[in-house]
Amino acid sequence: MAVAGLLFGRRGGKLSALPWLFMENVIILGTGCAGLTAAIYTARANLRPLVIEGGMPGGQLTTTSEVENFPGFPEGVDGFELMDRLRKQAAKFGTRFESAVIDSVDFSGPVKKLKSAGKVHEARAVIIATGASPRLLNVPGEKEMYGGKGVTTCATCDGAFYRGMEVAVAGGGDSACEEALFLTRFCTKVYLVHRREELRASAIMAKRTLEHAKIVPVWNTVIERVLADEKGHVRGLAVKNLQTGAGSELAVKGLFVAIGHMPNTQAFKGVLELDELGYFVPESGSQVATKIPGVYVAGDCADHVYRQAITAAGMGCAAAIEAERWLAEGE
Ligand code: NAP
Repeated sequence: MAVAGLLFGRRGGKLSALPWLFMENVIILGTGCAGLTAAIYTARANLRPLVIEGGMPGGQLTTTSEVENFPGFPEGVDGFELMDRLRKQAAKFGTRFESAVIDSVDFSGPVKKLKSAGKVHEARAVIIATGASPRLLNVPGEKEMYGGKGVTTCATCDGAFYRGMEVAVAGGGDSACEEALFLTRFCTKVYLVHRREELRASAIMAKRTLEHAKIVPVWNTVIERVLADEKGHVRGLAVKNLQTGAGSELAVKGLFVAIGHMPNTQAFKGVLELDELGYFVPESGSQVATKIPGVYVAGDCADHVYRQAITAAGMGCAAAIEAERWLAEGE
């Protein structure tokens, strides 16, 4: 039971005579760095936050092997372990967790309503930290062989299945380099298929990648189709060189797609402002406030510039402090 509902119930902006037994002070959507940091801060402020975790508990870092740039870990830290620690830290101060996928929201009144299959959650304040999901190439064969048949977006999760095989990674950013480097632990050869002739990745990652003996860059090339064997598993890729127009086949058993992410903001379309890529647009002068008082955004769903674990955590902290102040004003 949400204690705040008893103490601070308001209806139509006015104090209600009847307490709202099931209204939360603050609901946080997402259990990535942003969501869990917001949970730690709001929990330590005695707000007893409810965190709703969607389809990917722990967020994107759980699919990362070694995180070397999170301050405080000079030796690096496993992404899964880092998220596990954040979760324990949030739980220690009273955060509650529930699993649900929010399909739509109603922020029209002072009570914010969040709807999932068969349930409506109510809260005074909401922090949206729903993150972003991996993008796919949208070429024939990709969806058909996604998950278990040779196409994946997570080397950390699936790399070991490709021991002793040749595989390909699509993309030219930090994620693609990280995936390719990780796969060298298992695979005999890793093709890095990139549509340009230069990597977008940070200089240090690009250098490590290009210097690795097992990684073979395939420049100026797009994947046109994922080819299946007789069992419906990946046997290769039909690729095209964008400079020459020549088509060819790359014989690989696995395709790791690492071409960026899509923000998980669909449930808020028409309610909160989104940019042309679907990222939340915060109110001017703030990184986390939205046009709706008491509703805040944090992390990758609202940031297509920095997209780092530490910046997401920072936004989660800022959103929590804003939410806490806003709730205190309403008391
Ligand atoms: P990204 O930087 O946006 O790179 C996406 C890559 O995929 C680009 O090379 C892009 O090509 C390519 N691409 C996009 N759409 C494509 C398509 N339809 N077909 C073929 N190629 C396509 O995404 P990211 O690598 O996921 O990185 C996102 C952010 O997270 C970055 O800020 C990155 O620094 C950070 N990150 C950091 C680490 C780390 O520090 N350890 C690890 C992972 C990610 P173009 O280059 O031609 O646009």
